[in-house]
Amino acid sequence: MKEIILIKTGEIVLKGLNRRAFEDILIKNIKYRLKDLGEFKIKNAQSTISVEPVGNNIDLDEVSDKIGKIFGITTYSRACVAEKNIENIKLCTIEYLQEALGEAKTFKVNAKRSDKKFPLKSPEICTEVGGYILEKFPHLTVDVHEPDITVTVEVRDFAAYIRGSVIRGAGGLPTSTGGKAAILISGGIDSPVAAWTMAKRGIELIAIHFASPPYTSQRAEEKVVSLLEKVSEYSGKMKMFTVPFTRIQEEIQSKCPEELFTIIMRRFMMVIAEKISKANECSALITGESLGQVASQTIGAIACTDDAANIPVFRPLIGMDKEEIIAISRKIDTFDISIQPYEDCCTVFTPKHPRTRPVLKYVKQAEQLLDCESLIKEAIDNVKITKISY
Ligand code: ATP
Ligand code: MG
Repeated sequence: MKEIILIKTGEIVLKGLNRRAFEDILIKNIKYRLKDLGEFKIKNAQSTISVEPVGNNIDLDEVSDKIGKIFGITTYSRACVAEKNIENIKLCTIEYLQEALGEAKTFKVNAKRSDKKFPLKSPEICTEVGGYILEKFPHLTVDVHEPDITVTVEVRDFAAYIRGSVIRGAGGLPTSTGGKAAILISGGIDSPVAAWTMAKRGIELIAIHFASPPYTSQRAEEKVVSLLEKVSEYSGKMKMFTVPFTRIQEEIQSKCPEELFTIIMRRFMMVIAEKISKANECSALITGESLGQVASQTIGAIACTDDAANIPVFRPLIGMDKEEIIAISRKIDTFDISIQPYEDCCTVFTPKHPRTRPVLKYVKQAEQLLDCESLIKEAIDNVKITKISY
């Protein structure tokens, strides 16, 4: 029996004249994501994208998993392709959905007939198919309001499609329709979630990580790579820029007031990240900050941090509670990696009493004690690039 995947795109439908452009990018992304799994015919018709495997050696479970992680897809379902006559549709329905119908207690049939030449109208298709299901599975009853399974029969131009359950897709907008931005990634719980949340809105990512060896270990950096690999299953491949941060941190520690250490360090991060971003066609930074979570995430501290950057900074977690952030990190499978205990550069020199209301004027004064320009240049000259793919 031939099986295909049918995809619905949701929000893209609202894009008016741009709809085609969004759909074309989505189809390109689907082709790219599936390229290692075999050959597929991908068609876009009647607000559905169909993905049809060519040949018999394709594992549709794997295809389905990949499709579940492509942004821009609201729902999708696996369907069997049947010849367009009602007897055949009935037989295929029973055979294809045998297991699901056996497990369910209640069902309903939904029919759509876009081929108006098909001799039966939609209600008649429902009656025929529904009657046959009841005959073959006498334990079932019809429930039109909350059925355990909805059997959908779609009669289209060239074939009939029969499907059972609908699977929720990753949602959002197709990757790269929203431009490109840089995620400042640590090994913590928050930044991978922030990366995923913005990627969901169609943003293509690069990642910037600040490392302070020997205070931070090689394992800490590998942890960040593992986190980004998880994110890239959704966002697509990306480059990671690892910035050596040891000297900057040591300089701040030895020359600036202790309570301003964190805020000055964060301002350095922003300046360096802005430079790397602009050299890599990115038009925004993304961080995992959440208001009030730590001393550097008060309104005042964030204002001081933002002052250092001349580029928009997206903070998609700003209004979220830790619980909400953790729920997403579990969903995207980064949580267990994030909680592995490796030191991050932020925790290495944490002051005992960080300023929660830093005054920009004094922060800037403290920075005068450092040779910022050459420190920044040295860090950028020694950036290491790693390619991340899923
Ligand atoms: P996370 O869980 O993402 O580590 P956090 O709650 O620990 O965040 P901070 O350590 O204050 O908070 O970091 C705030 C944000 O700054 C992070 O979400 C991340 O975007 C960025 N950041 C922190 N440390 C680094 C780092 N070593 N490299 C790159 N970005 C970092
Ligand atoms: Mg952290």
